[in-house]
Amino acid sequence: MATLPARIDQWARELGFSAAGVSTQAIDQDHAHLREWLAQGRHANMAFMARDVDMRTTPQVLRPGTISVISARLPYHPQGMNAFEVLDDGHRAYISRYALGRDYHRVVRARLLKLGKRIEQAVGTHGYRVLCDSAPAMEKPLAREARLGWIGKHTLVLHRDAGSWFFLGEIYTDLPLPKPTEPPVKNLCGSCIKCITACPTGAIVAPYQVDARRCISYLTIEHHGSIPTELRPLMGNRIFGCDDCQLVCPWNRYAQIDVDADFAPRNGLDAAKLVDLFAWTEDHWLRKTEGMALRRVGYLRWLRNIAVALGNAPRTEAIIAALESRADHPDEHVREHVAWALERQRRTNGRLNDLD
Ligand code: SF4
Repeated sequence: MATLPARIDQWARELGFSAAGVSTQAIDQDHAHLREWLAQGRHANMAFMARDVDMRTTPQVLRPGTISVISARLPYHPQGMNAFEVLDDGHRAYISRYALGRDYHRVVRARLLKLGKRIEQAVGTHGYRVLCDSAPAMEKPLAREARLGWIGKHTLVLHRDAGSWFFLGEIYTDLPLPKPTEPPVKNLCGSCIKCITACPTGAIVAPYQVDARRCISYLTIEHHGSIPTELRPLMGNRIFGCDDCQLVCPWNRYAQIDVDADFAPRNGLDAAKLVDLFAWTEDHWLRKTEGMALRRVGYLRWLRNIAVALGNAPRTEAIIAALESRADHPDEHVREHVAWALERQRRTNGRLNDLD
């Protein structure tokens, strides 16, 4: 048992993870942090965050019998992708880099199941459950306790060699694995505040504090209904998630990332034109997003988000025509965001008929 964590780490690396570690500690300090965050309403409309807090913070409540948690990180940022170029081109759609390839839930879970089987081959049958963003668990504190990195001021886990472009997954297990002997990974944020100042909407309201009500990832993916009008101009061309806090983080410059083909961008979605995506029918959207995490947003929120980005884009006749083609959309939220976008184009770029 004493050597098992090192062997688990090795097997995890053979499966494409960049590291795996073990935690056995309760994460009490994170329990208090979560409660305070909820009390301040910073979870926005994510009511599920407020449910099952004990289950989220105590692995034994989520899965009775759990003694140890194995955390693993799987890198996803494809090499050579120029995110800044897309962000700077208002005619293109920015989709968070994690969502461009195969759905990470499937990839991480499948590999964790293989890791679980490998562990069983070594120590025999035992109880365990694999998780990846699929049950109430505090993945980031667990990863920190497993020595996979520190939690940065942007509230993501990062590591000096791995940066922050990775997914986390866990195995909740009955095995009495030994506690890590090495000290926690040192927090190297220091006096840096790049992620805080780079956040387009000011969602990192203080170091280690994100207010989901302002976060573009929340607004474009989790938020149903109308996006607050004061935040829409700040969203630029980000139609699914946002990576700005990671893009500016100095530790991602030094990260040694070896990414696997599962996360290679599909269907040209890493730099697609907004007007082209806005023209997709629902059937086409379903075909193009099959097996991707993008599906989470649903077709109508997809249109809503693109409408906002089109409102923020430099005016062209093609953009106005695209927006007008959806002006009578049956969905009230799509309609309302299209109307906002047309109005913004009028206000910021002159009267519509200037170009007509
Ligand atoms: S940008 Fe700076 S403050 Fe933010 S997580 Fe990276 S190192 Fe820490």
